Amino acid sequence: MKITDKLSHAHASEQAPPTFSFEFFTPKTTQGVQNLYDRMDRMYNLNPLFIDITWNAGGRLSTLTTEMVNTTSTVLGLETCMHLTCTNMDLKLIDDALQSAYDSGCQNILALRGDPPLDGSESTGDFKYALHLIKYIKSKYGDHFNIGIAGYPEGHPEDEGDQAKTIEFLKAKQDAGGDFIVTQMFYDADRFIDWCHKIREAGITIPVIPGIMPISTYAAFLRRAKWSEIHIPQHFMERLTPIKDDDAKVREEGTQLVIEMCQRIVEAGVVNHLHFYTMNLEKATLMILEGLNLVSKQQITDMKQPWRKSLNPNR
Ligand code: FAD
Repeated sequence: MKITDKLSHAHASEQAPPTFSFEFFTPKTTQGVQNLYDRMDRMYNLNPLFIDITWNAGGRLSTLTTEMVNTTSTVLGLETCMHLTCTNMDLKLIDDALQSAYDSGCQNILALRGDPPLDGSESTGDFKYALHLIKYIKSKYGDHFNIGIAGYPEGHPEDEGDQAKTIEFLKAKQDAGGDFIVTQMFYDADRFIDWCHKIREAGITIPVIPGIMPISTYAAFLRRAKWSEIHIPQHFMERLTPIKDDDAKVREEGTQLVIEMCQRIVEAGVVNHLHFYTMNLEKATLMILEGLNLVSKQQITDMKQPWRKSLNPNR
């Protein structure tokens, strides 16, 4: 089923609580893949609206994405969204990935450009921007796929702070066929809310799905924020820095900070769904969901039981 249909259905009543979803990345080893299937299966019993699987351009890992999408969709029965990048990708690889998703019954593609080559050279491949991939998917598959597009509440690093430009290109992706936006991670709720208002003013009407990155350790928190070039609000630093060497305390306080951020953006009425970057782990995401009262302690206990498969009404 398409993600936008699932969202409309879940939020038919304005009082409905926020829904949520989980992102996973392709592991490097066969054992890692098996462990991840087990984790996905367990976490799906918490009733996420969907899960998604990231894409790695080049090498074995890109075909692993299509294999995993096939398994999660057809064997595990999980509503899946496949990421697909287009720079440095042969058209044949893109065609094969789309055909494989189609054959698996997967109806959701997050259409991305991918990162440019690290050495600064021009990318190879048939598409320069995500926009071109969206147009291509539309031309080949019409409305079969629900197409997600990436959004950057604090700007894309390549746009050098020109927010109007970033929003203009986002609008072009919507107009070409983008059905929903999944955002880059962020910790500044005010900036995110402001961006949501700005994109609506610019004529972007499709649902916004905020990317939520749990905080597990202090070092990872700083590294990811730096890598994504996002602003860290002062109160995050004030509450995390004094406990930075105690991982358990950082996770607890970080969870509380992310819960407060999620509450702010939901209460502001700009989103009704939360998308978690799980980093293939469950604990930090579960702590946030529990803190938001979106899952109960009992659900978390039950999901670990061998008889849990019968619990999920969506199967
Ligand atoms: P685009 O929308 O093409 O934008 C790229 C840059 O070009 C931006 O600066 C944009 O403003 C500019 N631009 C866009 N259109 C035009 C135009 N017509 N003319 C001139 N400039 C233009 N990467 C992976 O490799 N695998 C993944 O699975 C993955 N998942 C992601 C999931 C999310 C939610 C997000 C936010 C990012 C993800 N990425 C992933 C990273 C992503 O590939 C990079 O951020 C990449 O640099 C940009 O991708 P995009 O689809 O936003 O590109």
